[in-house]
Amino acid sequence: MIDRDRLAALLERERATYAGLHPISARHYAEATHLFGRVPMTWMNKNAAGFPLYVDRARGNRVWDVDGHEYVDFALGDTGAMAGHSPQPTLDAVAHRMSVLGGLTTMLPTPDAEWVGAELTRRFGLSRWSFALTATDANRWAIRLVRALTGRPKILVNAYCYHGSVDESLIVVGPDGEGMMRPGNVGAPVDVTETSRVAEFNDLDGLERQLAHGDVAAVLMEPALTNIGIVLPEDGYLAGVREITRRHGTLLIIDETHTFSAGPGGATALWGLEPDVLVIGKAIGGGVPCGAYGLSEELAASAEGRTDLDLVDMGGVGGTLAGNPVSVAAMRATLEHVLTDDAFAHMVATASAFTAGVEAAIDRHGLPWSVSQLGARTEYRFASPAPRNGTESAAAADEDLEDYLHVFLVNRGILLTPFHNMALMAPTTTLDDVERHHEVFEEALTDLLG
Ligand code: PMP
Repeated sequence: MIDRDRLAALLERERATYAGLHPISARHYAEATHLFGRVPMTWMNKNAAGFPLYVDRARGNRVWDVDGHEYVDFALGDTGAMAGHSPQPTLDAVAHRMSVLGGLTTMLPTPDAEWVGAELTRRFGLSRWSFALTATDANRWAIRLVRALTGRPKILVNAYCYHGSVDESLIVVGPDGEGMMRPGNVGAPVDVTETSRVAEFNDLDGLERQLAHGDVAAVLMEPALTNIGIVLPEDGYLAGVREITRRHGTLLIIDETHTFSAGPGGATALWGLEPDVLVIGKAIGGGVPCGAYGLSEELAASAEGRTDLDLVDMGGVGGTLAGNPVSVAAMRATLEHVLTDDAFAHMVATASAFTAGVEAAIDRHGLPWSVSQLGARTEYRFASPAPRNGTESAAAADEDLEDYLHVFLVNRGILLTPFHNMALMAPTTTLDDVERHHEVFEEALTDLLG
C-alpha cells in the first residue's frame, strides 16, 4: 500500500529540509564532543531527522528552538510537561521556595508534603504516600517493598511495557510463550527470568499460568500500555487481573505515570481500579523532577510493623533529594492549580478532536491504521484493528514511515513524541493547534500517497 521507494525519497527530502532549517542545532550537535552520544542523555538520539532540535525556550504548549522556529508541542516531554511548559502557578511556587524561603534540599520535611499526600489520596484512593525524584525510582522502591512484604522473589510485567530503567521490567514473551530478555537490554545484573515473569496485556490465561507458580510478589502494569503505542484494556481484563492476583496472593502495582492522562485520578479513578500500590511521576511536578508511590492502608501498616526492614537508613528504599522542598512545592502547585478537574475536561475534549481528525484522514486515504485515545493522550498505529497487546503493537512498527511523518511535521512546526506517534494535550492546547496538526498531517499523507 505504501510505495517504499517513494517513502525513502520523501524521507530524504524532509531530512534535507530539516538540516537546512536548523544550522544552529546542527552546529551544537556537531560540537558536543564531551557528551556520551553527543547528547545529555543517549535517548535524545531518538529523533527522526539525524540530530535533535536544541531548545531556546518553552511555554504552555509552545517550544522555540535555537534557530528561531516555533512549534506546537504535542510531545510535552513525553508527559513530563503534560501541565504545559512552565505553568505559572508551578513557577510561582518554585520561585517562592527557591528565592524567598530558600532551602532547596535539607533532609527535612516541609508542610507541603502532607498536602500532596492528601491530594493524591483524594485522586487515586491509596492512603499512604512516599516521594521519589523519578517514576523509575518510585517503581524500584515499590518493587522492594512488595518483595519484602510477600516474601516472594518475582515481579510480573506485560510484554513491551515500560516502567523506566527498572531491571525487572526488561522482559518479553519469547517464541515458546515464556519470558526472555528484552532485546538490547544493557548490562542486566542477572538473567531477567530469575527476577521476573511476563504475560501479554489482555491475556488473562497467560497471567493465570504465570501466577500459578506462586513466586510472584506483584504484577507491575500500566492500566493501558502507553509505551508501545496505546493498547487499551478489553472489557473485563482489568477486573480479571485484580481477581486473579488476589486469588494467588499477588499484589497489584498500577503505574499511572502516563495513564494519568485518563483524568484527574488517572485510569484508577476512571475505571474504579483497586491497586495495592500506585506509582506516578513526571507530570505531577509540572516539569520539576518528582515521583511518588502510594500504598494501601493495609500494606503500609504491615510494612511499618516489620522491625526487620530498614526503612530509615540503608535498606535500599530512598534517595537523599527525594521529597525535597522544591519538588514537593511543584507537585502541590501543579495539582492544586494546573492539572485540575476543569483542565482535564478541556484536555480530553481537545484530544477527542485530535483523534477524530486523524481517524478522518486515515479513512479518507483508506489506510490500514488505527487510533487509540486515553483521555488527553491519543496515538495512531500502523495496524488495523488496533493491536491487542505489546507484542502485536511492536510488530506494527514502521520506522521509516514514522520518521517521515515526524520530520514532515517538525519541518512545519509540529512536534510529536519522538518514540511513537503520540499526541498529548496540555491545558493550553487549543482546537486551532489541533487543526494546524491536521492540515500538516493531510499534506504529509497526500505527498506520500499521491
Ligand atoms: N513508568 C512509565 C509508565 C513511564 O512511561 C515512564 C517513562 N516514560 C516511567 C515509568 C519512568 O519515568 P522516569 O523516566 O521519570 O523515571
